[in-house]
Amino acid sequence: MIRSNNGYFGEFGGRFVPEILLPALTELEELFFELRDDPAFWQEYLTLTQEFSGRPTPLTPLRRLSEQLGGAQIWLKREDLNHSGAHKINNVLGQGLLVQRMGKKRVIAETGAGQHGLATAIMSAKLGLDATIYMGADDIERQYSNVFWMRQLGANVVGVETGSRTLKEALDEALRDWAASVETTHYVLGTACGPAPFPELVSYFQSVISQEIKQQSMTQIGKLPDEVVACVGGGSNAMGAFSAFLDDSEVKLVGIEAGGLSLEDGQHSVRLLKGTGEPGIAQGYKTLFLQNDDGQLGETHSIAAGLDYVGVSPILAHLSQTGRVTPDSSSDTEVTDAFQLLMKTEGIIPAMESAHALAGGFKRAKTMNKNQHMVINLSGRGDKDIFNIARAFPQRDWTEFLQREAERSTDQINAHLATELAG
Ligand SMILES: *Cc1c(COP(=O)(O)O)cnc(C)c1O
Repeated sequence: MIRSNNGYFGEFGGRFVPEILLPALTELEELFFELRDDPAFWQEYLTLTQEFSGRPTPLTPLRRLSEQLGGAQIWLKREDLNHSGAHKINNVLGQGLLVQRMGKKRVIAETGAGQHGLATAIMSAKLGLDATIYMGADDIERQYSNVFWMRQLGANVVGVETGSRTLKEALDEALRDWAASVETTHYVLGTACGPAPFPELVSYFQSVISQEIKQQSMTQIGKLPDEVVACVGGGSNAMGAFSAFLDDSEVKLVGIEAGGLSLEDGQHSVRLLKGTGEPGIAQGYKTLFLQNDDGQLGETHSIAAGLDYVGVSPILAHLSQTGRVTPDSSSDTEVTDAFQLLMKTEGIIPAMESAHALAGGFKRAKTMNKNQHMVINLSGRGDKDIFNIARAFPQRDWTEFLQREAERSTDQINAHLATELAG
């Protein structure tokens, strides 16, 4: 496991937050530093993930697809088989245990597409915590099914009406709440970003992924894999898939970002490649951010909501600068091709985010030989992406279906708003 130097990884990381939040971050860091070296705590975490989330997740060989590509033997680490359908649950369950240790009863989180909010609502129901989830008002409309489930699970979902009514404003609102409630409330950060100790803490819980890959490779392949490939949004599933291999220099670690439509400004979310992200300080930490010429945060694009982020884990920024992690990207069209190939040859429906890792991995696997092995981290399943995917593969037989669903969900939103206003 990588350890920070006082919250820093090379030049990246740190803790740039209002004074009032410092005691809570210090308390969290002290608790985390104490527990991460305690095998009993790790065992408690593993037991919770086994009993509740189905761990260990399988390592699945892609026999037909590898044969067809004619290169390396490809294996998938099946984080899609977690409860709630992605790796995000690993992190929130771990933070839930820390919240219990701190004696806090309330958690808050911000969410864009709703996946982290849903995972946080699930964890809070399981552990008996009060949850408040901040979400931009436009995101609420776009992701209404997640909002529905969060509320059924007992979470308080707060729509944020200011600014662009999306993730950025939800983040501001969550921080405002935290500043006012920090003594009783824990802020559940959803990825390996933000102020210290979050990047290190989230990577620690997600490292369960690579610890399992390591054991499973020894049993199923008989050696370590030659390459491990993961998609990079904030960087938590990638840090999870890489952490246990950092000292195994023979294992190549590849992080795939969203290449989007092109590498022109505003058309992608590639931060780690040379000439895209620039060092900067925002949202409480220092990392490579997409920025305009005047140093403002830049625009991003991705067909996968989970990869559409302007910053990136400071740990990955550091590891890619030192050369331990190789950054690469997949374009939207490469992603939809890989998506279909996996479904049709292997019967697995990936999340759009994970399909970036597939596209990047398949391209590389073709250049490798049959005795080499590649593990691709399948961070999540594709159920949540049904409309996105239908739009990406337009066909006559479902344009009508899409139209009907779009109208229906608008009706639902209107009905919902009407009840909210009446209540
Ligand atoms: C949220 C999400 C991601 C991106 O987040 P990371 O922190 O980069 O892992 C990737 N895949 C899926 C399925 C997600 O839900």
